Formats: sequence, C-alpha cells, structure tokens
Amino acid sequence: PVAPVTVHETLPSRVLVGPGARHRIPGEIERLGARRVLLVATGSARAAAGELAGALGPRLAARFDGAVVHTPVAVTGEAMEVVGETSADAVVAIGGGSAVGLAKALSVRTGMPQVAVPTTYAGSEVTPVLGETENGVKTTRRDPAITPGTVVYDPELTLTMPAGLTLTSSLNALAHAVEALWAPDATALSDALATEAADGILTVLPHVLADLSALRGRGRLQESAWLAGLCLARTRTGLHHQLAHVLGGMFDLPHAELHALLLAHVMAFNLPWAPKAAARLERIAGGDPVEVVGRLAGGHDGPTTLGALGVPRDALRAVAERVVDRPYPNPRPPETEALTRLLYSAW
Ligand code: NAD
Repeated sequence: PVAPVTVHETLPSRVLVGPGARHRIPGEIERLGARRVLLVATGSARAAAGELAGALGPRLAARFDGAVVHTPVAVTGEAMEVVGETSADAVVAIGGGSAVGLAKALSVRTGMPQVAVPTTYAGSEVTPVLGETENGVKTTRRDPAITPGTVVYDPELTLTMPAGLTLTSSLNALAHAVEALWAPDATALSDALATEAADGILTVLPHVLADLSALRGRGRLQESAWLAGLCLARTRTGLHHQLAHVLGGMFDLPHAELHALLLAHVMAFNLPWAPKAAARLERIAGGDPVEVVGRLAGGHDGPTTLGALGVPRDALRAVAERVVDRPYPNPRPPETEALTRLLYSAW
C-alpha cells in the first residue's frame, strides 16, 4: 500500500520562553498595536496580574479576575460587558487553562488579539480549540483563529504551583503526548514533539516534585508542556481524552486530577495495540511505562481514583457505553466489557 500524504500546517504564533519572559509582555502589547488591554486572570495568578497591571499603566483598560474552569458562557458574558464598557482592543490571560479559555472565548467574539501567559501545564495556549459550557453541556469548537497569537512562558510563574497541581498538570500534559504517539494522524513532526515532551516530563518531574522551587526543572517541564500542547493541536485525541471528556462532563470533575488518574489505565489498555508508541515510551521511561506513570499518578495527596473523585461505581458501565457509542479514533477499538473493566480499575 502507498503511504498517505500528510499535510503540515503551522499556526502563526509568537512564543517567548524563559525566566523573566513576563517582563516582555508590555512590549508584546505594543507590537500588536493595542492601546486598551483587558487583563483576565485566575485567582492564583493575582500577584502576577497585579505586577503586569502596574507595568501596563494607562494601557490597562480593565481587569477581570473571574475566569473559571470549562469556560461557562455566563462568565464570558460578564467579561464581554467589561470589553464593551472599556472598548478593550486586546486581551491578556494569566493563569491556568481556565484563564486562557476565557481569553479565547472573548477573542472569538470580538476578534481581539490575545497574549496567553500560562501558569499550569494544560497546553491550551497553543491549541485552536475552545470548549465552552452552557446549562451543563460542553461544546467544543476548533478554528485556527482561536489560537492565541502570542504566548509567554515564564517558568517563574509556575513556582507557586503546589506539589499536587505540579504532578497532575504534568500528567495532563503527558497525556497529550502519549495520545499523539498512537494517533491515527501522527506524523514525523508530532512524533518528535511527543517524544521530547514525554522525555522532559518523565525525566524532570520527580526532581521538581522533590524540590518545587527548582527553576531549571520547572523550565523544562513548562517547555515539555508547550510541546505537548502542540501535539494536542496537531493530532486527533483518542480514548484517554474521550474518557476525560465524558467523565468530566457527566460529573463535573477537576480537569488535571482526572487526566492524571486515568492515564496509566488507558496506557495499559492501549499500548499492546500501539507497539511503536509502546517502544518509545518504554525507552523514555527506562522500564514499563504503565508502571512508571501509575506510580507517579499515585504520588499526591489529592484524589487518585474515580471513586475518590465521587464518581458512583454503578455509573461506569453507562460511561463505557457512551464511549463505545461514538468512539474517538483509538488504536484498540473500545468495547463495553473491556472498557467497563478499565473504569473499574480506575475507580
Ligand atoms: P485551571 O486553570 O482551572 O487551574 C487549576 C487550579 O490551579 C485553579 O485553582 C488555579 O487557580 C490554580 N493555579 C493555576 N496556576 C497556578 C499556579 N501557578 N500556582 C498555584 N495555583 C495555580 O486548570 P488547568 O488544568 O490549567 O486548565 C483546565 C482548563 O483548561 C479546563 O477548562 C480545560 O477544559 C481547559 N483546557 C483546554 C484545552 C484546549 O486546548 N482547549 C487544553 C487543556 C485544557
């Protein structure tokens, strides 16, 4: 058979990486020609947002600190009112995926350019994807115009991440890389990004967990999360992300914790069917990747099972059925019995 032709499309974006990169944000705003900046932040990024507000001076139009997880349309509506009142012409997001999601939602509605300054490893800042919730229903859209045009990675902004978030958010990033390795539309480029991302995370994470103030290690984790986000932007996700979407949607679960606890179970399920991904991950992990990831995932004080997250055990079969009904592309075709068993082990 003739190998299919792959098409690479690179989204235009400008990425600044390194300690202190946040001090360049005012210059980036100037570069965009913006005069009235709306600053959106999550509570955790209050200090960084305050610092930036000072640096922006009169170019700061307003601050909106109300970003919350899963981009509820109602919250976006409140922020849109602020945009209207202040005639903001650019939006800067500082915080986790929640702040970045809100900036994307505002940009889609207004065409405002975005500067994303992530403080977790979720990776949303480099993807053309926006998930929004309304009346408990999450809808996702994909459009190159959604991708923030400027991204600023400053590892100093990640030093405040507690151990639990550092671990779960890193495994969230690792999940993007792992699924890219077995994606049906993987390319040489996505393989390279995923391999480097997984290597960075598995190599450095134990050191950062032992010393949360290790700036160089934090920098490597953040760079790995960037590459993992690029994987998410480039390839179709499979069973892991589908389970996270279905479970997260049905039971309103915390994003990073859910990804972290599912990953090893999905790897155990899929890797025998994805020999190339298995070989790469085994090389990177220096042993059985399922065991290595499973051990990491169990190493924090937060919930590490679906049961601990409050998911009722008798709902798991329905979750499996939902997945089997319209499966995302996956190396191992999901089937209700096997999937229910996977969910029981994660429970
Ligand atoms: P989040 O933004 O909700 O942050 C999680 C928690 O960590 C919050 O309480 C936050 O205040 C805190 N926090 C963030 N940065 C911190 C720091 N540096 N120090 C201390 N605390 C900090 O969660 P997240 O996991 O970053 O992102 C999840 C959201 O992003 C979800 O809405 C998810 O759907 C979305 N997401 C979207 C994409 C995409 O491509 N569209 C990709 C990944 C995630």
